[in-house]
Amino acid sequence: RYGLQTRLIGSKIVHFNVTGSTHLVARQLAERGIEEGTVVIAETQTRGKGRLGRKWSARQGGIWMTVVLKPKIDPMHAASITLMAAVSVTKALRELGLEAVIKWPNDVLVNGKKICGILTEMSAETDMVNFIILSAGINVNNEVPLDIATTARAELGHKVDRLKLAQSILEELDEDYATLREQGFTPILWNWRRYSDTLGRPVEVTYQGEAIRGIAQDVDDAGSLLVKLADGSVRKIVSGDCIHLRSL
Ligand code: ADP
Repeated sequence: RYGLQTRLIGSKIVHFNVTGSTHLVARQLAERGIEEGTVVIAETQTRGKGRLGRKWSARQGGIWMTVVLKPKIDPMHAASITLMAAVSVTKALRELGLEAVIKWPNDVLVNGKKICGILTEMSAETDMVNFIILSAGINVNNEVPLDIATTARAELGHKVDRLKLAQSILEELDEDYATLREQGFTPILWNWRRYSDTLGRPVEVTYQGEAIRGIAQDVDDAGSLLVKLADGSVRKIVSGDCIHLRSL
């Protein structure tokens, strides 16, 4: 267990040198009933996944991992898991001295560039979640092909102990997930607000084909973004695939 100080996350660890996608491996394991807390981690992924079939670059030197969760929450509140993961990663990056902030719903940024992407996928019945596959890709010492992306090494100016950082992320996640189970989403949301780079700012959201402009006002208990429009009304943006958020 790599000396991991956790109660649940990392109860089982599946490690690959190379795999197609840790997300897909974890999904298959979850479908076969693997225990909650299982972590799938790879040194490199040949077919890293983003949202909407987009590609995720996952070269050697980054942290590419997926966790299987089975939260007893309403499927309508599944986005809270994405927001929780962003908080956990942000806390771990801040311990390294990085000024990490969260862009709703699923990115962690440093100096305006993406250092971590989070991808969640749910299997659910109408009123219960079977499992949630939570993937996080963290740029650490790896090369990133894009100027919208950055790495911990580039921001800090030195190489980072990747194993220690992975441990610290899993420990933060373990703690936040315990909080979520015991006290619900509210305490997580307080931390989310603290690290948010979205709230209070003018944004444009493309949502269900419509461009919505306004001020990002808050996030509700289901993880939806509340945008205040010029006429004073508030629109709720449900976290999902068809969203593009731009800070104006
Ligand atoms: P977003 O939520 O920003 O729309 P996704 O979560 O779908 O993006 O992730 C895929 C996108 O992230 C890609 O289209 C690419 O622009 C960007 N990307 C791919 N690999 C990386 C990486 N290693 N670090 C940061 N950004 C990346």
